[in-house]
Amino acid sequence: MVHKAKRTKSGRAWMHEHVTDPYVKKAQQDGYRSRAAYKLLEIDARDHLLHPGMTVVDLGAAPGSWCQVAVQRMKRQGKVLAIDLLPVAAMPGVESLESDFTEAEALAWLEEKLENGAVDLVLSDMAPNISGIPLRDQARHYELCELALDFAVNWLKPDGAFLVKVFQGVGFEDFRAQVREAFEQVLIRKPDASRDRSNEVYLLGRRPLAGRRRDKPATLGLE
Ligand code: SAM
Repeated sequence: MVHKAKRTKSGRAWMHEHVTDPYVKKAQQDGYRSRAAYKLLEIDARDHLLHPGMTVVDLGAAPGSWCQVAVQRMKRQGKVLAIDLLPVAAMPGVESLESDFTEAEALAWLEEKLENGAVDLVLSDMAPNISGIPLRDQARHYELCELALDFAVNWLKPDGAFLVKVFQGVGFEDFRAQVREAFEQVLIRKPDASRDRSNEVYLLGRRPLAGRRRDKPATLGLE
């Protein structure tokens, strides 16, 4: 009973925060699928990540507000490939796959769509479902981040960029060190639209240091 009452209270608090959140209201007015749009808009305003003609891979893309921002900022010129466990409703300029990024089929789909072309920008806003066990959740999140980093290092152009959501706490420094090893420049971004009480921040890696490892023919499943 006690637990039920607590959950209800926190559920109400979440709902109150949601309906009073200015970014939620703004997203509804501006036609964005979620408030997350403003995080990418803000980072892009500062770091100039998105340009017409780019190839962008959006990992953990549903419901699709980052895809919307990418398509707009790219002026509908270029390619956005989006993957999520959940469906991303169709939108012009975006090809999406409903799949688990940790599964081979997701990588195979990206490889097929990329046709051996390189990527300008890899976005990862992936966040696993919360189990309630903080250490386990954090570990699962960083597994996803590491896979996204691996993909970015393999597929980015020499002047490409990798933007990834991370949660500060256990695993953060290790992962940041990995990103630092992989990129010439690594920045931390905490957009205003990211809630203060959330320990999420975004790491932005620019210009991968390692050469592209994908010169090998597409080898998924054959290695
Ligand atoms: N950037 C999105 C937007 O602007 O609409 C919001 C992304 S939401 C915060 C995080 C997403 O990560 C969820 O939709 C979730 O389904 C996805 N996700 C979590 N684990 C994943 C996985 N293994 N593969 C693909 N997507 C995953």
